[in-house]
Amino acid sequence: MDLRIGNGYDIHRLVSDRPLILGGIQIAHGLGLLGHSDADVLTHAIMDAMLGALSLGDIGHYFPPSDPQWAGADSLKLLAQVNELILSKGWKINNLDSVIVAERPKLKPHLQAMRDRLATVLQLTADQISIKATTNEKLGPVGREEGIAAYAVTLLVKE
Ligand code: MG
Repeated sequence: MDLRIGNGYDIHRLVSDRPLILGGIQIAHGLGLLGHSDADVLTHAIMDAMLGALSLGDIGHYFPPSDPQWAGADSLKLLAQVNELILSKGWKINNLDSVIVAERPKLKPHLQAMRDRLATVLQLTADQISIKATTNEKLGPVGREEGIAAYAVTLLVKE
């Protein structure tokens, strides 16, 4: 069986005047993530894992922050484009696993909604998508609530 593995990482700064969007779900919180797009750090890590699996570079190459067309972009639309790219090359996601590292807010109540949302965009079932959440035990910039980070791993199979 033809298999490829990829990993992705991203971090965005938390600021007071932005919505918090993770895995395509807007979460009520006093702070949101700063970025050129909607700054959905989880979706960005997943896209980088998908691209990495096929040695296709990273999302900065396809959606450069210098390009105004991506200002405020819905990251799920970018994810759909990355998925089309891997499908066009004859690959599909077998499964993906991810971790969001955030001191606050509590993300557990939102994880299923994120899985369902990402499954819809990626044309997968929710059981193929794992999303975990952890704090950083108050350590470092994530622990001080200066930002939120995400890690993702995906396994692709050749169709
Ligand atoms: Mg990003």
